[in-house]
Amino acid sequence: MTDATELWVRFEGLGRDFVAKPWPIPNHSNSFTPPPVDAQALYIAAKRSFALNGAGDRRVRQIPFKYAKTWGLSDDVYGDVVFARASNKYCMRFVFNLEHAFKGRDTDPYKAYVRLVKDAKFHSDHLEGVEELPVPVHYGLWAMNTGDWAGTVLFSLTQYCGISWNELCDTRFNTEANRISVGRAYEKLHDAGIVHGFTTPSSFRHAIVDMYAPGLTEKDALNGKAPVYIVGFSDASMSHQCGRKLPVLPLDSCTSRNVFGCVELQKILVFLDFIEPPLENSIMSRALKWYADNSKNFPNNSEALAAQRKLFYSKYPSLSFEIDATAKDPQTPVTRRPSPRPIAAVGDSRASGSGSHQRTSSATGAPHRPRLPSPQLVVAT
Ligand SMILES: [Zn+2]
Repeated sequence: MTDATELWVRFEGLGRDFVAKPWPIPNHSNSFTPPPVDAQALYIAAKRSFALNGAGDRRVRQIPFKYAKTWGLSDDVYGDVVFARASNKYCMRFVFNLEHAFKGRDTDPYKAYVRLVKDAKFHSDHLEGVEELPVPVHYGLWAMNTGDWAGTVLFSLTQYCGISWNELCDTRFNTEANRISVGRAYEKLHDAGIVHGFTTPSSFRHAIVDMYAPGLTEKDALNGKAPVYIVGFSDASMSHQCGRKLPVLPLDSCTSRNVFGCVELQKILVFLDFIEPPLENSIMSRALKWYADNSKNFPNNSEALAAQRKLFYSKYPSLSFEIDATAKDPQTPVTRRPSPRPIAAVGDSRASGSGSHQRTSSATGAPHRPRLPSPQLVVAT
């Protein structure tokens, strides 16, 4: 029927099949896993097969078959490609009407095309053949001429991985065990030097939970036994040396990015709801309880917060900037701070000094920043 360099694609009810061929990424030597034999005839059912991540929260929206092929004919495509489950086990992400995508570089279709290509390149360059990574197998980019149906159609072919965490987090499968599994998948990427580009909770559309894994029972699916895959590497980068000092697990207190040690994983920690309420009897917990009990008695939120501030945080200035109108004109000159000293090599007496990390500046009395761990350089401020 076919050789390894062709895929037959059938959309249910269309009455004709298309032949797809490998699409070479410009200025890039492709390296992808060859499609398995059963991927050489791809079948896409008409009902509930096509979807895209909608605008705003990027939740999956099912789209009718007849509209899917019009993707790309206008700019208003919500910036996401249409994807479909094919032959039950493959995921196809489409750029229909590729010719239209090239009509303007500021259009959503063009940006979606760029993301599809960048994702494929990242797979090819950094993920292909790397074991133990929680990522789908990528079988490359393919293109087919569909004539008057949807012009040139470009698509990526990958392993189908399941349902996104963006969808599952509003279901009973939002269990602590599953949140831990999602966090572990991102931790594995970071341990391999990969930052995914997580920005907001909608980024969880890229964390895919395999609810259809063979042998997975409902109990398993509730208990974090479903494999989790991370997809969508168009904003990812390599060479990350993860500096996290804590796991992505339920923690018993708030932690700042600096203390946690990794910006992306700290964000994920927060959005997985792993930051526990403040410890009992801490100032924060008492201030929160006071707010819950009393804030309604104030005419507005600012006055409630001002009262809370006075009660629990009185050592800090109040919100209002009070100026003594009877005072004479201020005489305090406003001057710039001295410029930071230049970077100095270790061994330079200005930087390393006695070896103490807590020396103070003779000029300002402010503590010096602790010496950086770099073996070559130290910043003296
Ligand atoms: Zn990290």
